Amino acid sequence: MKQSYDVAVVGGGVVGCAIASALVRQSLRVVLLEAAADVGAGTSKANTAIWHTGFDAKPATLEAKLVARGHQLLEERASDFGWPLERTGALLVAWDDEQLLRLESIIANAQATGYTRIEVKSKSEVYELEPNLGPGAHGGLLVPDEGLLDPWSIVIALATDFVVNGGTLLRKAGVTKAARIEGRHELQTAAGTVYATWVINAAGLNSDVVDRLLGHDGFTITPRRGQLIVFDKLARSLVKHVILPVPTATTKGVLVAPTIYGNVLLGPTAEDLTDKTATNTTAEALAGLLDKGRAIMPRLIDEEVTATYSGLRAASEHGDYCYEVFPDKYVRVGGIRSTGISSSLAIAEQVIADLGERGVKMQELKSPTTVTMPNLAESRPRPYQDAALIAADPAYGRILCLCERVTLGEVRDALTSPVPAGDIDGLRRRTRALAGRCQGFHCGALITEMATAWSGHTHA
Ligand SMILES: Cc1cc2nc3c(=O)[nH]c(=O)nc-3n(C[C@H](O)[C@H](O)[C@H](O)COP(=O)(O)OP(=O)(O)OC[C@H]3O[C@@H](n4cnc5c(N)ncnc54)[C@H](O)[C@@H]3O)c2cc1C
Repeated sequence: MKQSYDVAVVGGGVVGCAIASALVRQSLRVVLLEAAADVGAGTSKANTAIWHTGFDAKPATLEAKLVARGHQLLEERASDFGWPLERTGALLVAWDDEQLLRLESIIANAQATGYTRIEVKSKSEVYELEPNLGPGAHGGLLVPDEGLLDPWSIVIALATDFVVNGGTLLRKAGVTKAARIEGRHELQTAAGTVYATWVINAAGLNSDVVDRLLGHDGFTITPRRGQLIVFDKLARSLVKHVILPVPTATTKGVLVAPTIYGNVLLGPTAEDLTDKTATNTTAEALAGLLDKGRAIMPRLIDEEVTATYSGLRAASEHGDYCYEVFPDKYVRVGGIRSTGISSSLAIAEQVIADLGERGVKMQELKSPTTVTMPNLAESRPRPYQDAALIAADPAYGRILCLCERVTLGEVRDALTSPVPAGDIDGLRRRTRALAGRCQGFHCGALITEMATAWSGHTHA
C-alpha cells in the first residue's frame, strides 16, 4: 500500500483523534496512524477523567492556555457529540495550618491563569459540602467549574467523526521509520508505506521516539505512573465533588472523585519509571492509596473495590507541553502529560491555526456528517431504561452485562459502527461491558464470542 495524504497524524489517542477530526473538517486528506488495535488504547483510556479548568496550571504556559480553552470547547461540542459532562465542582481541602496558608497562593495562581471563580470555604462549609470527609480538614477552596468527563466516548467520537467525514484510519499501523523524500514525508508503518506533506506527532508516551524518527531531538518522555482504585457504585453517594489535596511541586496529589460511569476513584500515585509499558499496579502503591484514602474519607475505604488500574503520564523535562511547528512540515505535539483530555480540542484548534498561518489551504466542510455517541454516563438514561427504544429494537432490552446493564443492542452497535471496537478492551470502552463489579466473570465469554464472530465482517 502506498498512499499520499496532505497530513499524517501519528497516534490515535485523544490528542491525535482531536487533531485528525479537526483537519478532515477542513477538507484535507488525512491519515491517522495508530499502533494499537484500537484508538484510545494508550494513556487516554486510563486517567482520572477530570474535566479540568486549568486553575492549577502554571500561568503563561501553553498548557494553561489550552486547558482553559479546551474546557470551554468540550462543553460547546458536548451536545453535538452526546458527551456527558458533569460540573460537580472540585473541593480542594487543606488538612493542616501550613496547607491552609498555601490556599492564598493557589487563588493567586488561578487568577494568573485567568480563572477567577474560586470560592474560599471555611472548615464548617467544607464539611457541609462533603459530609463524609475524615476529621481534620481546616478549610478549603471550591472550584465550581471542575467536573467529570467520559474519556472513552470523547476519543471514540472524535475518531468516528474523522472517519465519517472522509479520514483514513489505520490501526495496527505503528510508524517505524520516517524519511523526507522530495519534499514529502515517507512513513513506514506496520500497515505499509504512507506519504504525507505534513506529519503531526501525537504519539503520547512514544512522542519522543517519533520525534527522533523524524530527525528531531527535542525532549525525552519519562513515564510517570498513576495507580488508581475504583470503588463500587454503591460508594457513589458518599462523594459529591472532586476532592483534591493541596498540590506539591511535583504532583497534584491523591484525589477522591466520582466517575461519570457512577464509581468512585481514589488515586493517582505519581511514580517516575523508565518502562513505557509498565501499566501494572503494585500492592505497595495500592496500600499507600488506601492509607491516604482512609484519612480523606474513612467511609469510602469500607466500600468494595471494583478494579484497580494505572496510566502513564507522558512527562518530559520541560514544564509545559512539547509543542512546536517546524519548517520541515512537522508538528510536534508531545509530552501532553496530565491534562490532555481536557485540552484536546484546544490543541486541535491550535494546530489548525498554525497550519493556516503556514499557508496550508483549508476549507471548512459545509455540512459535515455528525456523530452522536451512545450514552455511557450513569446520570442519564441508558438504553435498557428506554421503553420506546426497546419497543423499536428489542436488542436494547436484552441485557448481556448485568453489572453495567449493557444490552445486546449496544454491543452490536459497538462492533458494527464506522470505527468498530478493535479488541475486547475497545468494546469495553464503547459500552462499559466487562467494566463492572464482576469484571467480565458473568458475560466475558459470551461477549468475546460475539466480538470474534463479528470481527471478520467489520474490521478494516
Ligand atoms: C493517572 C493519570 C491521570 C490523568 N488525569 C487526567 C484528567 O483527570 N483529565 C485530563 O484531562 N487528563 C488527564 N490525564 C492526562 C491524559 O490522559 C493525557 O494527557 C492524554 O490521554 C494524552 O493523550 P495522547 O493522545 O497525547 O496520548 P495517548 O492516549 O497515549 O495516545 C498516543 C497514541 O499514540 C500511539 N502510538 C505510539 N507510538 C506510535 C507510533 N510509532 N505509531 C503510531 N502510533 C503510535 C499509541 O498507541 C497511543 O494510542 C491523566 C493521565 C494519567 C496517566
